[in-house]
Amino acid sequence: MSTSHDLFTKAQQHIPGGVNSPVRAFKGVGGDPVFIDHASGPYIFDSEGRRYIDYVGSWGPMILGHAHPEVIEAVQQAVPRGLSFGAPTELEIRIADKVCELVPSIEMVRMVSSGTEATMSAIRLARGYTGRDKIVKFEGCYHGHSDSLLVKAGSGALTLGEPSSPGVPACLAEQTITLDYNNLEQVQEAFRRIGEEIACIIVEPVAGNMNCIPPVPGFLEGLRQVCDQYGTVLIFDEVMTGFRVGLGGVQGLYDITPDLTTLGKVIGGGMPVGAFGGRRGIMEKIAPLGPVYQAGTLSGNPVAMAAGLKTLELISAPGFFDELGRKTETLITGLVQAGRDAGIPVTENHLGGMFGLFFTEADTVTDFAGSMACDQERFKAFFHAMLDESVYLAPSAFEAGFVSAAHSDEDLETTLAAARKAFTRL
Ligand code: PMP
Repeated sequence: MSTSHDLFTKAQQHIPGGVNSPVRAFKGVGGDPVFIDHASGPYIFDSEGRRYIDYVGSWGPMILGHAHPEVIEAVQQAVPRGLSFGAPTELEIRIADKVCELVPSIEMVRMVSSGTEATMSAIRLARGYTGRDKIVKFEGCYHGHSDSLLVKAGSGALTLGEPSSPGVPACLAEQTITLDYNNLEQVQEAFRRIGEEIACIIVEPVAGNMNCIPPVPGFLEGLRQVCDQYGTVLIFDEVMTGFRVGLGGVQGLYDITPDLTTLGKVIGGGMPVGAFGGRRGIMEKIAPLGPVYQAGTLSGNPVAMAAGLKTLELISAPGFFDELGRKTETLITGLVQAGRDAGIPVTENHLGGMFGLFFTEADTVTDFAGSMACDQERFKAFFHAMLDESVYLAPSAFEAGFVSAAHSDEDLETTLAAARKAFTRL
């Protein structure tokens, strides 16, 4: 039986940093990453057979818990029929219809293989549609790793201290205007100056890559209004929030209609899937209907579509999100209580199945600066104390946490008992 330490040492020989995606290396918290052997329901099991209660959920997709029997069965039925055709299937119609039913602003949808592809393609489409080059994003929001979007980005880029990556051509980065999340006045001011040059605003409508930060009242409404006024495309990046905060995403909860939406994570049920969609008049500009090119050998992959469709069907069950929201609330309010009882100042944000715990004296955190001002050292100590108690949290202070339908009340209580111990050790 290999320990995680052995595996991490071996992995670093032929894999940069020993991982295929940076945050997995635990650079943000120190120590060896946990190497996973398998997972089931709310639990992951490491290479030595140790069980952890998991609140990462593969960074969001595993909303039903790991290896949900019905999702696995759907995949097992799809596999013997062929792994990839590069030609259309009926399954793709079914998942497209389902997405359009659940997210009414999406009149047409195109499947891709990752969230990065979804946002990259949506940006290209917005540029092609408007004939403009500039885009607006917000500091600390992460939209995948395409060039235009790796400017003052969140998530791993932030954790590793490289929010604006080398390798992104300056001439491209120049076209990305980065503003402060939840600061509508700044957006209005930027548009007064150069609104007619801006192709799109892309925003995480609830930010989940600088920890979890919901929009302040009026922010999203204001973005909609500004985009209407200047003929700019409003893109909601719901790769994380789609089918996570509620069945209709943030746009369903806040009743705001973006022009384009990007999806990922839950839509693939753990398989590599992303999607972008929206207003018919814009989506018709995509090839082969229109001139904006976008394509993918594995797009609409039959095994991935089977997992995604089954996941969407299961989360459509009546009351699914009420129950998920109740669990998330029990967890996060319990964590805050445990922290405060131990004299550690903490606060939280949460929505649907997503939450953020902040080590701060502030009552609330509503922006990037507030998240950055949190006590990183305390977070690291808490992360490791929880890991010692067999609770697996995201290994970075800048990531949201995720609860799944598979977490039982007992799992939540076990987690809170672990937290009570962990906080007293800080
Ligand atoms: N957008 C958002 C909001 C995300 O959270 C992520 C990934 N965490 C992405 C885009 C990129 O998705 P992927 O990692 O599948 O490329």
